[in-house]
Amino acid sequence: MSNQVILVDDQGLKKVMNHYASSKIVRNAPGVVFAAKLTDTSITAYKSGKVLFQGGGAEREAARWGKAEGSATPTKVKVKGDTLPDRLAELSVVGSDETGTGDFFGPVTVAACFVRADQVELVRELGVRDSKQLTDDLMRKIAPDLQEALIYNVLTLKNDKYNEVQARGWSQGKIKALLHNQALRHVLRKMDGEKPDYILIDQFAERGIYYNHIKAQSEIVRENVLFSTKAEGLHMSVAAASIIARVAFLEEMDRLSGIAGVELPKGAGSKVDEVAARILLKNGEETLKSLTKWHFANAGKAKAIALKKKK
Ligand code: MN
Repeated sequence: MSNQVILVDDQGLKKVMNHYASSKIVRNAPGVVFAAKLTDTSITAYKSGKVLFQGGGAEREAARWGKAEGSATPTKVKVKGDTLPDRLAELSVVGSDETGTGDFFGPVTVAACFVRADQVELVRELGVRDSKQLTDDLMRKIAPDLQEALIYNVLTLKNDKYNEVQARGWSQGKIKALLHNQALRHVLRKMDGEKPDYILIDQFAERGIYYNHIKAQSEIVRENVLFSTKAEGLHMSVAAASIIARVAFLEEMDRLSGIAGVELPKGAGSKVDEVAARILLKNGEETLKSLTKWHFANAGKAKAIALKKKK
């Protein structure tokens, strides 16, 4: 598995899009203008002119453009984190990942999940891929099968609790670190003495910072822990954890939407401000607060919009 990035101009981008047109897929991610999937390579083109090639055929596909056009130099994407063992993808690994941290509405959720070496293929067959390539609906379908087949733990930090600890001065980094450690502990306990080859945390903070956040905990998971960014692509356990965390987030969003009487939008954009302003006018500040991460700038923006609407 390798990653390659090339930089192309508008002309180059058109050529890339034409070339892969028959393998085009829909990918609704920020900044993405085109995506395609070959049997061994994912291709993602960004507004910035960067084209990312991922997978076994990445080098081959990137070279096609770098050399042919002379307009681009392939460079390795830097995955930050530990030096990883060979054939990590085939080992028995407990992985963990979180979601919801960038969304004004809804909880932060963290999941950890054990995928034994002999389950890697099964998990792939259940449809697990890098969650950035899966839609929410597809993830909702896959998650129950994963939860049936795997040892996992998922934690949903509700908004009231999030706002309480945030007001006490906890950073998002600390909140995430505590949840990851807790989810990993639960999974290791459920494994009943069985040891994974590694524990792989999708890196949101460097090792030293992570352990500093959780230093006061009575039980700290340290043995064979690896940190890497983009870890969903490195082992099925992280990809599965990411899906389970995402679905827990979606389910809590469904519940909160019921309370609000309106479908709560994801993210932290202007749509979010609009909906938040409406809730503010209809249900008041306490209700809005209980649905959100209150320290986000969206709270102030919603208040400003609500004030204008009142006039
Ligand atoms: Mn992550």
